[in-house]
Amino acid sequence: MIVAGDAAGIVAPASGEGIYYAMTGGRHVASAAHKFLMTGQPAALKSARRSFMREHGRVFWILGMMQYFWYSSDKRRERFVAMCADPDVQKLTWQAYMNKKLVRADPMAHLRIFLKDTAHLLGIGAVRH
Ligand SMILES: Cc1cc2nc3c(=O)[nH]c(=O)nc-3n(C[C@H](O)[C@H](O)[C@H](O)COP(=O)(O)OP(=O)(O)OC[C@H]3O[C@@H](n4cnc5c(N)ncnc54)[C@H](O)[C@@H]3O)c2cc1C
Repeated sequence: MIVAGDAAGIVAPASGEGIYYAMTGGRHVASAAHKFLMTGQPAALKSARRSFMREHGRVFWILGMMQYFWYSSDKRRERFVAMCADPDVQKLTWQAYMNKKLVRADPMAHLRIFLKDTAHLLGIGAVRH
């Protein structure tokens, strides 16, 4: 048996994005099923998860860390939402969202985001409602 999409648990942490990953994951599953049919080796089915994680594991890991930290309480969730309104964060996440990979921003944007993140974390930043 081989599963894909939500059944395989490949919804991106933090963003909850599962449509793209279900579709691309389906391709990995089809290719693994093909490999199995050609070789008769059930172990070939494992290659679906392996190749999917090779492509998206890093992004899932980072989003998982973000979810673990920012979604751990209502207060942190509010700060996370407020942080997402920031133009630098919007620009960075939009690129990552569209291209499905981590993107480099200009170093000053990273520094600004880091300083603003820290301010949010310490409760210095204002929370918008
Ligand atoms: C409220 C909500 C908002 C979301 N928003 C987003 C978003 O903005 N962007 C995004 O990328 N993802 C979003 N997701 C996640 C996304 O919808 C899922 O990750 C994605 O649809 C998973 O696709 P799938 O094909 O694995 O499963 P599904 O789309 O759930 O498809 C499974 C299908 O199997 C059918 N089925 C179930 N059991 C049987 C059976 N026994 N026999 C025959 N058919 C069966 C179901 O009826 C269903 O049609 C959201 C999810 C929810 C719940």
